[in-house]
Amino acid sequence: MDVIDLRSDTVTHPTPEMRHAMATAVVGDDVYGEDPTVNRLEAEAAEMFGMEAGLFVTSGTQGNLIALLTHAPRGSEVIVGDKAHIVLYEQAGMSALGGIMPRTLPVQEDGTLLLNDIEKAIRGDNEHFPRTKLVTIENTQGTVGGVPLSPEYTRQVADLTHKHNLKLHIDGARIFNAATAYNVSPAEIIAGADSMTFCLSKGLGAPVGSILVGTKEFIKEAHRARKVLGGGMRQAGILASAGLIAIQKMSQRLHEDHANAAYFSEKLKDVPGVKVMSQHTSFVFFWLEESAKLSPSEFSARMSEHNILLSPYPGYEHKFRAVLHYWITRERIDAVVEAMKTVLG
Ligand SMILES: *Cc1c(COP(=O)(O)O)cnc(C)c1O
Repeated sequence: MDVIDLRSDTVTHPTPEMRHAMATAVVGDDVYGEDPTVNRLEAEAAEMFGMEAGLFVTSGTQGNLIALLTHAPRGSEVIVGDKAHIVLYEQAGMSALGGIMPRTLPVQEDGTLLLNDIEKAIRGDNEHFPRTKLVTIENTQGTVGGVPLSPEYTRQVADLTHKHNLKLHIDGARIFNAATAYNVSPAEIIAGADSMTFCLSKGLGAPVGSILVGTKEFIKEAHRARKVLGGGMRQAGILASAGLIAIQKMSQRLHEDHANAAYFSEKLKDVPGVKVMSQHTSFVFFWLEESAKLSPSEFSARMSEHNILLSPYPGYEHKFRAVLHYWITRERIDAVVEAMKTVLG
C-alpha cells in the first residue's frame, strides 16, 4: 500500500502470508458443511471465545442481522444503543427483514448502556407490549471513539439480561481490540454473552468475512438464516484461510496499533489548528479548528496530494477519525504528522 490510508481499518489489504494461504487453501462446498478450512476457522474461533460453535459469514452486518433474526422473532423488541452500528449503519435490517423493533437507549461517553436504563426498558408480560427478547452491546463502541467495554461491565449486563430470561448479543466487530486494551483473553472479554460477531476484515487484515459465535443450537439456526440472506458461500475456504491467520496471528499484534494511536495523538498536539478529542484502542478522533488555515475539505484534498487519506467523520464537518492499523508504521505516522504541519502551518 503506497497510499497512507487512515480513514479506517477496513482498508487493510491481506498480508503476503494470507495471500499464500489463500492460494493453497484446501476447500469444499461449505453449504454442505464440507469445506475443511471454513470448518477449522469456525471451530478455532469458537474455542478462542469459549463458545460451542461458530459460523463464517460475509460481513459484520450479516453476522449481526443473523444473530438478531435468530434470537428475536417478528414483533419482538431488541434493546440496543442509540449510537450502535446496528442502529446507525445497518439499514434497519432487523426491522426491514425481521419485523423486529429496536428499543434504543442512550450510549454513554464510555460506550456503555446504563444498567438501570436496560432494566427499565425490559417489558413486563402484558398483551399490549411487544416481548423483549434480546439486549445488544457494542465492544469496542465505535461511534463514541473505539472505546473498549470492560469484562466486568459485560458480565453485569449478561447477569441482568439472564435474570429476565433474555439473551445478550455483542456486536464485537473490534472485540480483539477490546481484549487487547484490557489485556484479557478473547473468552474473558465476552464472558456471559450468548452470541457475538467479530470482523476478520478490519484490524485483523483479512480481505473478507466475519464470524458469529454461540451455542451449537443457536449456530444451527443461524446457519438457516445465513442461507436465506444469501450468505451460503461454497468454496469459502479461500477466504477462511486468511481468517485463520487473522485470528491466530494478527489478533496478537493489535497492541502495536494501540501504541501507534497513542503516539499519533501525542504528535498531533504540535500540529497547528488541530485539537485531539480522544484516543482509545486504534482510534484517534481530532477536530480541525475554525482557526485552522484550511477548511476540512481543503485539508483532505491537500493531504491526498501527499498520498495521505483522511476524511471527515460521516455527519460531522470538522471531526476527523484516524484509525491505526497494520499498514501504518511509526515512520508513516511521522510522515503524516510532517505533512499535516506542512499543509496547516
Ligand atoms: C464494521 C462494523 C460492523 C459491520 O461490519 P461490516 O463487515 O462492515 O458489515 C458492525 N459493527 C461495528 C461496530 C463495526 O465497526
